[in-house]
Amino acid sequence: LNDKVRELAADQAVTKDGKVIALHINTGLAADFDVAKGLAVDGIGLFRTEIPFMVRQRFPSESEQVELYRHVLESYPDKPVCMRTLDVGGDKPLPYFPIEEDNPFLGWRGIRLTLDHPEIHLIQMRAMLHASRHTGNLSILLPMVTSINEVEESLRLLKQAHSELCEELSCEIPWPKVGVMLEVPAAIYQIGQLSTLVDYFSIGTNDLTQYLLAVDRNNARVASLYDYYHPGVLQALHFVIQQCQLHGTPVTVCGEMAGEPIGILLLLAMGCNSFSMSAQNLLKAKWILKHISSDDACQFLKEVAILSEPAQIRDVIVSKLEHAG
Ligand code: PEP
Ligand code: MG
Repeated sequence: LNDKVRELAADQAVTKDGKVIALHINTGLAADFDVAKGLAVDGIGLFRTEIPFMVRQRFPSESEQVELYRHVLESYPDKPVCMRTLDVGGDKPLPYFPIEEDNPFLGWRGIRLTLDHPEIHLIQMRAMLHASRHTGNLSILLPMVTSINEVEESLRLLKQAHSELCEELSCEIPWPKVGVMLEVPAAIYQIGQLSTLVDYFSIGTNDLTQYLLAVDRNNARVASLYDYYHPGVLQALHFVIQQCQLHGTPVTVCGEMAGEPIGILLLLAMGCNSFSMSAQNLLKAKWILKHISSDDACQFLKEVAILSEPAQIRDVIVSKLEHAG
């Protein structure tokens, strides 16, 4: 690594005009931590807990989960670590918990499944709280939220988990931050009400795109239709970020779009200043931000707002980026 790259890696992400941007990493595998070594990050924006569940032969026990989560929380002891509750179903099957459905992406996945099996939800939240006992840096993130009652029910279970554990361990366990993934279209119209219940939002552009466009994110036949830069998706994202600001609730973007140069610039222009991405994309994101000002990004957004084809939108931004060097 030359000195410039090393400096970029060690520095906090800042735009050309000096705006500080929070960059977090998405993880699920231990290997991700190695990639992030030597890179200054603001914490973990998405720990996909289903990944360690998927590589096992059976549900991990509560104590196995405590060990697993402690390791993750302690890897960034002074930074927030967002642990998402189990998001299985859809494209993420558990070999020991088969689900047969015609439409898995519209079916029993994420919070729907764990609320139908409160013992799974409760054990997982107990393990997360237990693991965070000494670091106190836990944020819990709820996937696939569609309705207010799912959040209320999860908070009820979290309170139960918290009071049980405090009593069993005879100590005060820090209360975690709680956030909701915005990835089901109906949820984006309930940001006001959700804001009264939770501390933050995380936009899951991978799923939000598939549900807004009615395009299966993993179906090769319609892959060309799956595009975050569809003008309808961009309008929805802009609306979401404005709604979060209106209600004073922090928002971050954790879908793949946040790790793409075009995506991060458009989201920045929409007012977002917190992103979570795979560690491989971090350095590139820092570099892009360092060379583009927020005014430049706003100008890009203005120019693409009148376009109707995702391909045109990409072309415009890519040529701007080339121009910026
Ligand atoms: C998303 O949907 O954008 C997201 C980050 O979650 P996942 O890709 O795990 O569904
Ligand atoms: Mg998702």
